[in-house]
Amino acid sequence: MSNNWSFDTRLLHNEHKTDGSTGAVSVPVQHASTFHQASFDEFGEFDYSRSGNPTRQALEETIAALEGGVRGFAFASGMAAISTAFLLLSKGDHVLVTREVYGGTFRMVTEVLNRFGIEHSFVDMTDLNEVALHIQPNTKVIYMETPSNPTLGITDIRGVVKLARANGCLTFLDNTFMTPALQRPLDLGVDIVLHSATKFLGGHSDVLSGLAAVKDPDLAQELYKLQNSFGAVLGVQDCWLILRGLKTLQVRLERSSQTAKQLAEYFNGHPAVKNVYYPGLSSHPGASIHKSQSLGDGAVLSFELENEDAVRKVVRQLKLPVFAVSLGAVESILSYPAKMSHASMPKEEREKRGITDGLLRLSAGVEAAEDLIKDFDQALEAVSSSFTV
Ligand SMILES: *Cc1c(COP(=O)(O)O)cnc(C)c1O
Repeated sequence: MSNNWSFDTRLLHNEHKTDGSTGAVSVPVQHASTFHQASFDEFGEFDYSRSGNPTRQALEETIAALEGGVRGFAFASGMAAISTAFLLLSKGDHVLVTREVYGGTFRMVTEVLNRFGIEHSFVDMTDLNEVALHIQPNTKVIYMETPSNPTLGITDIRGVVKLARANGCLTFLDNTFMTPALQRPLDLGVDIVLHSATKFLGGHSDVLSGLAAVKDPDLAQELYKLQNSFGAVLGVQDCWLILRGLKTLQVRLERSSQTAKQLAEYFNGHPAVKNVYYPGLSSHPGASIHKSQSLGDGAVLSFELENEDAVRKVVRQLKLPVFAVSLGAVESILSYPAKMSHASMPKEEREKRGITDGLLRLSAGVEAAEDLIKDFDQALEAVSSSFTV
């Protein structure tokens, strides 16, 4: 019914717009862990909240609809979603992972899955030839992240899906940076889309959550079994916070993306900045592929200063951005990947990925763009004096 409305409208006007029993314009938070069975012979839809809960179901149906899937899953964190999806693999299987992968996913693959006999290789997924070259007879999953974290590398989603299908592998894609507002991987043939809903979907730095959405009903059933078996489900209060955050996803992301683009252009012209990574800059090597598979450039960018000392000086001078791990919130968040998101990655692995000691990642919030530029301008003064322009 509601599927004819545009994405923006469907964020608000969907099957969970009002509560069927009371008309409440907010999904009820159903705290029950268990459900009374009125009939001895025939049990109701819900029996125990790990297996299913009405509030969580509302969120799961919402993410499934927004991503264009048949079924959604809500987990206690992004890593819980990602790790549960990896449980589809068995001993002896191989997973091909994008080289620029989220630090926590890197750790899961290299320090946990390996102990269960699941092999991995990392490849530069901006290069399809590299992907093709590294698919093995036992490769079961190709794991993408695009734009990647934190250097915003672009993977050709359709190209990887084609290779995966030709080789009988599944594809997973971490869509945290784009959200379904800007990129719908299931429509491009991806099998499982994963999210840290802690970021843009929640949007307010107040909840940890992970989501997954799947298009194929059989695969959905397998993932459901794993969600119920592993049990890392999202609590109902947190489900409600994500549902509330989702209502403003489009407006937040539009505003933040505009600001990110302005900041990227500003950094690009600044003498103290060595490199700027943002898919919305025409100089970005993946700009045209990104345009072909997404609806926007997003709110995250990274930029590189001379070294750690320059980073320290600039961070000390800045007044507006929160200096913190995480991204995707209403307040701008500045992160230092070398010591935050990628601290679990050895230095040489980091530097291979461009994550140098001078790299900062910025997630633009909804502040006035001119205030953010003003703030960065005064902070970059602290390191500009040592440059001869
Ligand atoms: C934050 C993040 C994760 C992990 O999510 P958590 O909610 O922190 O567990 C995974 N992928 C990306 C791209 C992220 O930014």
